[in-house]
Formats: sequence, structure tokens, C-alpha cells
Amino acid sequence: MLLTFSKGFRVSVSKRILALCLLPLLSFVISGCLSEEQSPPEIIGSTVRTVIDPVIVPKAKPVVIKKPDITDIPADWIPPSYLEDKNRWKGIVIHHSASAYGDATHEHKYHLSRGWDGLGYQFVINNGVIKNGYGKPDGLVEVGYRWRQQKTGSHCRANGDSSNYWNKYTIGICLIGDFEKTYPTQAQMRSLAKLVRFLQQRYNIPTSQIRGHESVKPTKCPGRKFSMTKFKQML
Ligand SMILES: [Zn+2]
Repeated sequence: MLLTFSKGFRVSVSKRILALCLLPLLSFVISGCLSEEQSPPEIIGSTVRTVIDPVIVPKAKPVVIKKPDITDIPADWIPPSYLEDKNRWKGIVIHHSASAYGDATHEHKYHLSRGWDGLGYQFVINNGVIKNGYGKPDGLVEVGYRWRQQKTGSHCRANGDSSNYWNKYTIGICLIGDFEKTYPTQAQMRSLAKLVRFLQQRYNIPTSQIRGHESVKPTKCPGRKFSMTKFKQML
């Protein structure tokens, strides 16, 4: 009775030990099968290629166009208070210099040579190209004497307009560059956006009154590589 019991006990103990030993092996085999089911190897010729889960490409974030910061405006952008009439300026006309290089001094000399009394624009935005003694850092805004003195511009006269409306009531901004051939630089566009936004706020100028020269008279200025649509999205 005791023997049978101990034999039976021994048998049942050894079975249990065997089962315990086999269990991890069994689970390894099962898990191996499962993992193979999840990513079975694909046999192509003599090579084995593991199928990789499809890469989930995150959705592209919408492009956020940073609006210009007009909290730190250079002092010379603000005209003397005794000359400033905040109701005067009705619009902004954008030009290019139609030259690869230049600056306000270069344009001033060019306009003098045309018989004008000096730089016709109120502002010039440089492109960083230095050549023949001209050129200023990329994106640098130069303020012309017409702005400092709040004088009538000499940058835009529509054909047959005897009132000289555009020169009297719109602000001329020239970007250095030939935008029939090259694009304005990013620094120029950022400076332009900041300047225009400042002028819009100060003189209550609607975006509809920001124009390229070509929209006032037949000319290629400011060039086909200047996108007015893209520029207005920056404002
Ligand atoms: Zn022009």
C-alpha cells in the first residue's frame, strides 16, 4: 500500500516535472509559430526577405506662415510727427530695381540721371549683392529722403493721370534685384512683409491697395518672379 502509494507518487511527481520542463519549450514553439504568422519570411530565389510592417507616415503639418512682428520697428520708419498726416497714404506700390545689384544710393544716382530730384521711392530693400561699390546686407531696409520729409514720390505715374495720384498718395517700395530673372531673397520678403504690415497698420491701408507697379501702368515691374499672391499671404 505504502509502496504503491510512493510509486504512484513518484510517477505523478516525475510526470509533473516532465510537464514543467516541457511547458516552456511548448510555449516557445507556439510563440515562434505565432511570430512567424505575424511576419512570415518571403522566399525570393535563394534569398529570404522579412516583410516589414508598412511604415506609417505621419500627416504633414500644415505650413504655418509666420506673420511679421511689428513690435520692434526701426525708429527711422516713423516720420517726424510734425510732417506726418495719417490720412494721406492710401496704398503701397511695390517695385524691383530691374538690376542684379544696387542700394538706395545707386537708385538715387540713377534717378538723378533721369532728371528727377533724387530717389523716387520711399523705401529700398537690399538683396545683399555687393558690386561696384554698391550693395547693402540682405533684407536691410533703407529709408529714402522722401519718406523722412514726407515728400511726394517719383515712382509711379499712371498714363494720362494728371493728378499724379500714385506718387502723391501711395508709398513706393523698391526691392533690389531683377525679378524677371531671379527671385527676391527670403530676407527681402520678410523685411517687405514687416514694412508693409507696419505701414498698413499705421495708415489703415487695406491689403487690396497693395499693388505691383504693373497693375497701375504697362510695365514688367516688379517682375514675374515676384508673386503678389504669395506675398499677401505673409501679411
Ligand atoms: Zn516699378
